[in-house]
Amino acid sequence: MDNPCIESSWAKPDAPFETPLRPQTLSDFLGQESVRQRLEVFIEAAKSRGEALGHCLFSGPPGLGKTTLAHIIAKAMGTQLFVTSGPAIEKAGDLAGLLTNLKQGDVLFIDEIHRLSKVAEEYLYPAMEDFNLDLMIDSGPNARSVRVKLNPFTLVGATTRSGLLSAPMRSRFLISLRLDYYDDATLCKIVHRTASLLDVKLTPEASLEIAKRSRGTPRITNNLLRWARDFAQIRKLKSIDALLARQALEMLAIDEKGLDEMDKKILFIMIDHHNGGPVGLNNLAAAVGEEAQTLEEVYEPFLILQGFIKRTPRGREATALAYEHIGRKRPQTEFL
Ligand code: ADP
Repeated sequence: MDNPCIESSWAKPDAPFETPLRPQTLSDFLGQESVRQRLEVFIEAAKSRGEALGHCLFSGPPGLGKTTLAHIIAKAMGTQLFVTSGPAIEKAGDLAGLLTNLKQGDVLFIDEIHRLSKVAEEYLYPAMEDFNLDLMIDSGPNARSVRVKLNPFTLVGATTRSGLLSAPMRSRFLISLRLDYYDDATLCKIVHRTASLLDVKLTPEASLEIAKRSRGTPRITNNLLRWARDFAQIRKLKSIDALLARQALEMLAIDEKGLDEMDKKILFIMIDHHNGGPVGLNNLAAAVGEEAQTLEEVYEPFLILQGFIKRTPRGREATALAYEHIGRKRPQTEFL
């Protein structure tokens, strides 16, 4: 008889953070075919010329693989990756320190590049174009500018809000690639890949349950799988089947469309308190107790994609699908 006791593999501690789960090469990176194919050409061509890769911009919602691609690029080019983010660069001097440390072909990854200050942005332009940096020395009447030559490097920018990136900044990237939400079939492959890395056993039906509730986002897929693994572990079960996956995810209040508590709160407030809208972003953010920016970047894109809300010039409106999903009757409009 099978020993129902906990398998030793369950008890394996996770390595810190997301690092061990990050795909290391483009062939490991699942889905996003067109992005992958274009990057393959771009990297091969730069490598065969022995040049630093041109600057790349990745845009798309959080958790879709932008940081992962920056790691993959540096690895494929055989160079080092330096990671920072727009809000972390407060002064032009912060940027100078980073840029002057880069060696030939190194990759500088700036996350949330749309949040870079105007001053830092202007500082970056000559660095991106001619690999020159104009440093200001001294202040007042003694102030003078010194030009420093930088090693050719690759800037990889990531943004969740490509619309907020200034036109001059955008035009300095040689390629700009947009990552889209993943389909269920690709997310199933990601569940399998992560499961084998974490030594978790699960049925194909359980993979699909997890994939369907992942909001098209690999980071969420990995988190849900870890949660289902913990859920199975405390029940001393060796593998995850569809029923167990469903129970685990229901405990997190994630429904079969991938909507979590906050998504549902948004829909309830729009429908119950604002007659389905239109309701302004700030108003909605205050009502659900979330930052307007998070609402706009994290929750809204998925709700729009799934057809639950729409953006109109007067504000956000709940669709018929939203009424149906949360079990409310849509009022008849007199003018229809
Ligand atoms: P972003 O920078 O867009 O917020 P990340 O690159 O940090 O997203 O991705 C989050 C996690 O999702 C990664 O650690 C990785 O494990 C997983 N992931 C992202 N994209 C893929 C992919 N295409 N294939 C497999 N795993 C992926």
